[in-house]
Amino acid sequence: ILCMLLSPGDTMMGGDATVSSTPQYGAIQIVKSEEKHRFILDHEALERILLQDHIKDKHVVVVSVAGAFRKGKSFLLDFLLRYMNFTYIEEVPNGDWMGPNDVPLEGFSWRGGSERDTTGILMWSHVYLATLKSGEKAAVVLLDTQGTFDSESTVRDCATVFALSTMLSSIQIYNLSQNIQEDDLQHLQLFTEYGRLALADTGTKPFQRLQFLVRDWSFPYEADYGEEGGRKILERRLQISEKQHAELQSLREHIKSCFSEISCFLMPHPGLKVATNPKFDGRLKDIEPDFKESLSQLVPILLSPDNLLLKEISGVQVKAKDLVQYFKSYLNLFSG
Ligand code: GDP
Ligand code: MG
Repeated sequence: ILCMLLSPGDTMMGGDATVSSTPQYGAIQIVKSEEKHRFILDHEALERILLQDHIKDKHVVVVSVAGAFRKGKSFLLDFLLRYMNFTYIEEVPNGDWMGPNDVPLEGFSWRGGSERDTTGILMWSHVYLATLKSGEKAAVVLLDTQGTFDSESTVRDCATVFALSTMLSSIQIYNLSQNIQEDDLQHLQLFTEYGRLALADTGTKPFQRLQFLVRDWSFPYEADYGEEGGRKILERRLQISEKQHAELQSLREHIKSCFSEISCFLMPHPGLKVATNPKFDGRLKDIEPDFKESLSQLVPILLSPDNLLLKEISGVQVKAKDLVQYFKSYLNLFSG
């Protein structure tokens, strides 16, 4: 069963190269970059995940994390997995989902050897069934993205990965280090333009929720950690004024026109052990309390039953089996 669930090469259960002794689920590389900026889809793996009998006819929630390399995306996702396991499998209401203090953090491979990370999209092999406010059971899919921004060619690959994951998700988490800078917004414009051009214009906003996530925010005196401070910073960064250069204005208008909802969350620094200690394996006891406090606020904002957002394309809710088709057709758009 494990062999069927895991595609060769890129899957890892542990926080590093050690495979857990009781592997059950794993990260599956669904989209891979090939030579000459071509991307290929592992549709067999995708179908194994999304066409399971109890999943395929459910509406989907797709949560994706994107942004530059080595900024803590996979690390964050592993906390999303802890919340998902706790809330939707163990079904412990309002419990301590973050888990015990002294257990390594597992799931999507984080801090992994830098070279073996290829550009692409990974999907968690387990699809969660969550009961929404309405009583409907929805299928929740988690996506990790990988890419570097270090040369012109990799920026193009990144744009493809970012565009694809934005087109296919209902929540895109844009993971940034330290602040929302002008070039982060420029990248976002490039990436979303890629995606928007690929989509037919239906008059609706092409994408759903964009969640800026600023890591290592170090100006809490200027704006508090969390959602409230995030709102303040986002408002400031996306503000359009007469005094601005026309280019800055249109960049902001473009971003606002692409997403039906935009929010921002400011995360504190997780502490030196997380950032620099090579022996750190994700134990809660080694993470700063401020970071854990923010994490306990952020994760339910994204994943609590009340906040799960169903994926829509052109205003229509998407089922898991439809998502397979969208993966295929969107990949075709970018493989030319
Ligand atoms: P990814 O390439 O974006 O997926 O990054 P990873 O999740 O693999 O994390 C890269 C490194 O950043 C790891 O060594 C983590 O311990 C560390 N890390 C995780 N979260 C944070 C954070 O919020 N701030 C800092 N400074 N480091 C972090
Ligand atoms: Mg990663």
